[in-house]
Amino acid sequence: MECYRVIPLREDLWAISELEKTVMYVMNGRDRALLFDTGFGLTPLRGVVSELCGEKPIVVVNSHAHIDHHSGNNQFETVHVGRFDEPASHGWPSAEECARVREMNFSDYLAAGGDLSGWRPGPARRVCVLQDGDVIDLGGMTLRVLEAPGHTPGSIALLEESRRWLFTGDLILTWEVWGQLAESTALRVYWQSLQRLAQLERRVDTVFPSHWGENERDNPLHFPSFELPPEILPIYAEGTGRIVEGLDKGEPYDFWGREVRCQRFQIGGMVFDPHRIG
Ligand SMILES: [Zn+2]
Ligand SMILES: [Zn+2]
Repeated sequence: MECYRVIPLREDLWAISELEKTVMYVMNGRDRALLFDTGFGLTPLRGVVSELCGEKPIVVVNSHAHIDHHSGNNQFETVHVGRFDEPASHGWPSAEECARVREMNFSDYLAAGGDLSGWRPGPARRVCVLQDGDVIDLGGMTLRVLEAPGHTPGSIALLEESRRWLFTGDLILTWEVWGQLAESTALRVYWQSLQRLAQLERRVDTVFPSHWGENERDNPLHFPSFELPPEILPIYAEGTGRIVEGLDKGEPYDFWGREVRCQRFQIGGMVFDPHRIG
C-alpha cells in the first residue's frame, strides 16, 4: 500500500494526500518549485516533487508547526515557517507523540500491510522565518505570505494572486477546526485573522485546505476534492464572530478528556475554549 497519492489540480499545481489524512501542495514555477507542508514524513517528498516539477530547487514552506504538517522537514536542509511557529519547529517528536500519531492516523495503513520501519519524523537543519507580506517568487508564480494567527500563533496562508489561489493550512476546514489548543491564540485573534482572509473572498477562486475528507460528516456540502469555494471565508469569519460576541455558545466537545465547546457553521465549525475568547 502506498502511503501517498498525487492529485493534479491545475496546471503546475498538485495535491499530495498522505494516508488521506493530511494534504501537501506542490507548485511548479519556472525557476523553483514550492512544497507547502511536509506531512507526517512518510512520503519521499524530494523524489515526488522532482518527478512533478523536474530537477529544480525546492522551497519548503510549513503552514504551521504541527506534527501532521512538518514531520518530513528533515528530508530538507532548509524550511520556512511563520515567525511565531519557529520555536516549535526545531524539536524531534517524542515517543509519546509518535505513538499518538500512529494510533490516530496510521492504523488503517498498518492493517493494510503498510510499513513504518523507515519513519523518522524530524526537523530541518535550518528554519527560516516568514512574515506578513513576504513574497516567494518561483518564476512566473508568486506566493504572498499572510500571517493568520489562530489555530497556532504562527499559522500562515499563501496567496497566489494572479491564479486566484489561497492555501489556508488548518485555519479553515470542511469540519470543525481546532482553536482550543494550548498553543492556539485567543479566539478573538483567530477571528481577526479570519476576517482578514474573508476580505479576499472576491480575489480568490479556490481555497485549498490542508485536510480533506470525503464522507458525509466531513464534507456535507460535497465540495470537490481539495478545493473549497471562497464563500467559506466569510462563513468562518461570521461564525467565529458570533462566538466572540457571545451570540453562539457551542456544544460540549470532549478534547482528550478536557471539556471545551464546538460551534458548527453551515460548513465546518470552531472548537474553542470559552475561557479564552480574549
Ligand atoms: Zn494543525
Ligand atoms: Zn492538521
